[in-house]
Amino acid sequence: MFQLRSIKHCRSCGAPAQYRVPADDNRERAVCSVCGTVHYENPLNVVGTVPIWDEQVLLCRRNIEPRYGKWTLPAGFLELGETTTEGAMRETDEEAGARIELLGLFTVLNVVRVGQLHLYYRARLLDTNFAPGPESIEARLFNEADIPWEELAFRTVRETLACYFSDRRRGQFEVHCADIS
Ligand SMILES: [Zn+2]
Repeated sequence: MFQLRSIKHCRSCGAPAQYRVPADDNRERAVCSVCGTVHYENPLNVVGTVPIWDEQVLLCRRNIEPRYGKWTLPAGFLELGETTTEGAMRETDEEAGARIELLGLFTVLNVVRVGQLHLYYRARLLDTNFAPGPESIEARLFNEADIPWEELAFRTVRETLACYFSDRRRGQFEVHCADIS
């Protein structure tokens, strides 16, 4: 979770860090009081998929906090050393145990309040032999009429699903960019 002024100690030497505006900068950074290291903090990337089988969407029920027991699309933090598509496929495998083919970038969602950028890809399930990983209680296919809108874990998931069904009705998929407050 994004927290203002969350760095207390220097990551290089362990001495106390203080938030101030470094020379030639224009915003506050955590600066080490001993070695002077400046700690830059930037938004985290969350990558995920909208896995489709025929008319149905695959959702996972969260076995972890936050939002334990709520439904979500498979998604998680992008790791160092992987591309966004690799991360989206890895998260889909880890959370849903699902094999997919990626079809294209679908939503780009700024969640400035928590310092995150969410990217969702449309995907086609290659089979229905999915099996939820330890982070999910269950994984299930839903028709549009059965989507548990009131039991979704995150607004980014709600926005992505709403865009998906809207585009599908129009018969044309586009990339959607939005800011989630
Ligand atoms: Zn230091």
